Amino acid sequence: MNNLKYYIDKALKEHFALGAMNFNNMESLQGIMQACINTKAPAIISISEGALSYMGEDFAVGLAKICKEKFPYLFLHLDHGKSFEVCKRAVDLGFDSVMIDGSGLSFKENIALTKKVCEYAHKFDVLVEGELGQIKGIEDNVSSASQHYTDPIKAKEFVEKTDVDTLAVAIGTSHGAYKYSGKQTLRFDILEEIEKLLPNFPLVLHGASTVDEELVDTINDFGGELEKAVGIPKELLQKAVKEHNIIKINTDTDIRLAMTSKVRQVLMQEPKEFDPRKYLKPGREKITEIITDKINNIFFANNQI
Ligand SMILES: [Zn+2]
Repeated sequence: MNNLKYYIDKALKEHFALGAMNFNNMESLQGIMQACINTKAPAIISISEGALSYMGEDFAVGLAKICKEKFPYLFLHLDHGKSFEVCKRAVDLGFDSVMIDGSGLSFKENIALTKKVCEYAHKFDVLVEGELGQIKGIEDNVSSASQHYTDPIKAKEFVEKTDVDTLAVAIGTSHGAYKYSGKQTLRFDILEEIEKLLPNFPLVLHGASTVDEELVDTINDFGGELEKAVGIPKELLQKAVKEHNIIKINTDTDIRLAMTSKVRQVLMQEPKEFDPRKYLKPGREKITEIITDKINNIFFANNQI
């Protein structure tokens, strides 16, 4: 079998997660793809509206399609679609799934918008991810100053009324590289309530980068200033996958950090270098390294194709 629905069901049953990795250029996508090939892991490659406008729709989708030809266990996903039109466009372009992010709207408006996207996407067997609650932080065109945890009772109503295939929940993760100021924790109690009301329903974690110290240190050692960057501890993510119904974990920040750490290092250590291949190649390799580690040790998706 080779469609996204099959792997979501498999992940739910066998307690692994699909990494949903964002890409913004060819090198990051190649780095992600290589990690999935090496580990034989199904995965989602995500394009945000920001990435679409940066790369151009034709380049972004063209690159993704080349990857799918090389490794057909990669599924193309629209990250944080903000309107029906953007989601419709992604469906028409052949995406495997779309996210409609109505989390900034009222509950009623979010339901109406998400339902409309589902009605359209499902005609073409494209899956839809909705979001309820608000995830703190900034990423591309998505930002929220505050955290609003997902209300479990509303989550049940939302899923029933919209017919979404997966739901992004807010339980304490956050977008970007500065996730916490105090103690790092996730609200597993809220997650359990949601799972009680929505048994066997696939859930999604956004803002789940680990922001590894090694990457932050390398960036800072070579001229960066990311002093207080903190991510989600690996153990909490492992628990979310192993003991809960989290079947998709979004990763964007860590990929950016991996690329930037190598680019900074090469450019600082070899100031006479001006061939972009000399710094983009190590960046690409670093992405493969960190994604391989996540697949093996956080997503547990290795050998699941
Ligand atoms: Zn997100």
